[in-house]
Amino acid sequence: MPELPEVETVRASLARDLIGKKVKTAVVTNGRVVRRHKSAKEFRFAIEGHTIKTAQRLGKNLIFALENGTHLVVHLGMSGQLLRAKGPKDPKPKHTHVVFTFVQGGELRYVDPRTFGELYVSTPLPEGSDLEISKFARLSIGGDGLGLRREIPELAHLGIDPFEDQIGWDRFAAILRSRSTSLKVVLTDQDIIAGLGNIYADETLFASGLRYDRSAESLSTIEIRRLHRAITEILTNAIKHGGTTLDDEQFVDPDGKPGSYQQFLQVYNREGQPCYQCRLPITRGMVRQRSTFFCEKCQS
Ligand SMILES: [Zn+2]
Repeated sequence: MPELPEVETVRASLARDLIGKKVKTAVVTNGRVVRRHKSAKEFRFAIEGHTIKTAQRLGKNLIFALENGTHLVVHLGMSGQLLRAKGPKDPKPKHTHVVFTFVQGGELRYVDPRTFGELYVSTPLPEGSDLEISKFARLSIGGDGLGLRREIPELAHLGIDPFEDQIGWDRFAAILRSRSTSLKVVLTDQDIIAGLGNIYADETLFASGLRYDRSAESLSTIEIRRLHRAITEILTNAIKHGGTTLDDEQFVDPDGKPGSYQQFLQVYNREGQPCYQCRLPITRGMVRQRSTFFCEKCQS
């Protein structure tokens, strides 16, 4: 599943040529991907004729502001891809569910074999209406995150985004100390920290020397500072390498290019292979029916 670095890779690529473009048509051939709308027609009506002003990201969501104050939100789900094409003559990949064309030329296609992903146009709530913003996000002292949550009610519940929200290690500590669940559960809960999934939670925990099943509230100050630093370091590095593309996964950027961070993974998907630090084989554990990879010796 695309996580923060993969979504950010897509965002950065699309920001280069989508901003300023006016949507001419949005053809939906699988209504499931626009399921928040009453009909595909309603989605089309909300987007056609509108100009894309910015390309932002919050957690695993791509956010395109339109000139009329609404936002196109795209969540890639398990296997979604946004792919650019020159025009209708470019061969359409299997599982293409939405095709955007632009007044200035070019196409953008939404491809998703498993159709867990979704697209919708969000309208801000009227001025003065009650919107409950995540209590964790409200700890942020800067960045664009709070403004995005205010404008897009569907994203108000999202927890801290490691880049779009600014949060020092001390406030991060307060969040961890309020949770008695395991670190892996806390790190992958989008309502607490938005953007981390299985891959980067495992890599972050390895980088901080912490076991996935440690209770979040049990961490010492030094451990919290290590974890806080590791989250941004690991994600920054992964973004630099265009995200992770594993053999059985479909992540590619809008030009169809895979990421290369898989070469740097220390534990994820490496069960039985020697740890790069201590040579002991990497172990696989289970958290809520999902695999978690760690080193028995390097993580405690
Ligand atoms: Zn090790």
